[in-house]
Amino acid sequence: MLLDAGEGVQLGLRLQRIPFQKIERIFISHMHGDHVLGLPGLIGSMNLLGRERPLIIHGPSMLEPYVKTALKFTETHLKFELNFVAANPNGMHVSMQEKGARISSFPVKHRIEAYGYQFYFEAPELNVKKAQIEALELQRSEIIQLKKGMDVKRLDGTLIKCAQACHSKAAPLCYVYSGDTRPCDAVRTASLNADLLYHEATFLDDKRRKAKETGHSTAKQAAEIAADAHVKKLIIGHFSSRYRNEELLADEARSVFNHVVLANEGMKFQL
Ligand SMILES: [Zn+2]
Repeated sequence: MLLDAGEGVQLGLRLQRIPFQKIERIFISHMHGDHVLGLPGLIGSMNLLGRERPLIIHGPSMLEPYVKTALKFTETHLKFELNFVAANPNGMHVSMQEKGARISSFPVKHRIEAYGYQFYFEAPELNVKKAQIEALELQRSEIIQLKKGMDVKRLDGTLIKCAQACHSKAAPLCYVYSGDTRPCDAVRTASLNADLLYHEATFLDDKRRKAKETGHSTAKQAAEIAADAHVKKLIIGHFSSRYRNEELLADEARSVFNHVVLANEGMKFQL
């Protein structure tokens, strides 16, 4: 899954050694160039590289005519299917639900129609208790069955209950992506108790008025949202190029909320 596709997206993916064809879905927050200008080029490259699998693109309703027009005028004839899923401007909307994952879009407050995305991932399998494996001398096939949530019935009639043999299922993981936005309730609500919130923090708080005018947030405001929503960790990004020392933004955010990380090119996070 790829979130937003600015001009440098292909280079960024190459530098991180992420194969283009592995991307199944792209989520676009809004139609400003730094979030969407790289999309037609990326689709064109996927085509040149021989993609056959469909690609699903989520975003504002304008995204479909934008991509189709760009492909038409560049005479890019796709050999794979493009499917568009338009976000709902009226509120939170489930845009994908499958295989233990649920992804929802929600409108945020920017200068133009803009969306954030909430990702929920169920813990894939149950973990069998080590002590039970030893005590019951569990076979591999039995462990597989228990991990899937099924009870095991042995030939001698013994019943091994999944609930007893396994640790209770880990809570689902939740990641929220704010896109570009002023501080807003929609992000606060979507990220309630989330494991990770990415929130834009374009300015320092002395530029609060400019942030409001341009539909952005300050580092302090992003941290306030994170604190209100009790998220476990906050990543801030989308910094104005005026800040040579981005640590200032992190310091400001940390004055409100402890668990802040500055987004940097190529950073990896494990949930
Ligand atoms: Zn924007």
